[in-house]
Amino acid sequence: MEPKIKQVDSMAANRIHNGFYGQDIISVSQFDRARLDYILGVGNEMKILVERFGSADLLQGKILANLFYEPSTRTSSSFMAAMLRLGGQVIPINNVQYSSVTKGESLPDTVRTLESYADIIVIRHPEVGSAATAAHYASKPVINAGDGVGEHPTQALLDLYTIVEALGEVGGLKVAMVGDLKFGRTVHSLTKLLVNYPVEFTFVSPEILRMPKDVLDVVAASGHRYEEREDVHEIIGDVDVLYVTRVQKERFTDLAEYDMVKDRYVVDPELMSRAKERMIIMHPLPRVNEISYAVDNDPRAAYFRQMRNGMYIRMALLAAVLGKA
Ligand code: ASP
Repeated sequence: MEPKIKQVDSMAANRIHNGFYGQDIISVSQFDRARLDYILGVGNEMKILVERFGSADLLQGKILANLFYEPSTRTSSSFMAAMLRLGGQVIPINNVQYSSVTKGESLPDTVRTLESYADIIVIRHPEVGSAATAAHYASKPVINAGDGVGEHPTQALLDLYTIVEALGEVGGLKVAMVGDLKFGRTVHSLTKLLVNYPVEFTFVSPEILRMPKDVLDVVAASGHRYEEREDVHEIIGDVDVLYVTRVQKERFTDLAEYDMVKDRYVVDPELMSRAKERMIIMHPLPRVNEISYAVDNDPRAAYFRQMRNGMYIRMALLAAVLGKA
């Protein structure tokens, strides 16, 4: 069944239907190859637009409500920058403690409030499924900017864009994800997105932070091979993409467990000396100790480019959902 088109702009509704128009973006499972190609292509156009002109007036008159119940630097500010660079405006609620949430207002009521003022809502919330709940109550489109340990679909799209930009194509790559695979929502989304391509997966983590079974099931069901390892040294020489994650301290109930695993993996020049010449190191950021600063100037370090690409991909998503791509 075609998902319901939400209220965006009746004029645009008559003109444009690119498959994103008026849709919520909740999970990477909404994306097939055609939709991925489309968003990556528009993301590229947005990059060129920003490099040449800085901004455009594509979303002039549109308002984004940026609702963050969890800390964020990149996702929140790149969504804001994306909207501003396309000529729109933003209601930033980056600190819900100063909103009526502190007075006990529910998520559905908060969403109903914001959609009375805005055309689209971006939400980050600590509970898995919260973005879907928000989308259920909203008559305006909702974009998931991270629902607890669940998903982070816009991060996965910018990760994919970065891989294609750096390595030309995704098919045939060996992708290793390292660190906190249990609580890291970015690796959950990226894995589920990459099953659209013929890649080989290696999941490297301590035993207590292994990739959740539901994600491994998606990989297996799609016919992909994967390996699980504990030692990054064993695989570093063979990978095209090393996707490093932060151990998610805020998700641990026992901090002694966190202390045991927090510095298990550190990418440093010694490790990089064993890596292929043509490969990339990625990280959704923020990093704590997982990548030493001495690696930052290595041409294989893609994490700052990855972060910049977030704005282009979020520009593409906002334009597509609001019917202006
Ligand atoms: N910024 C990413 C996220 O929100 C990764 C992280 O926090 O470690 O999931």
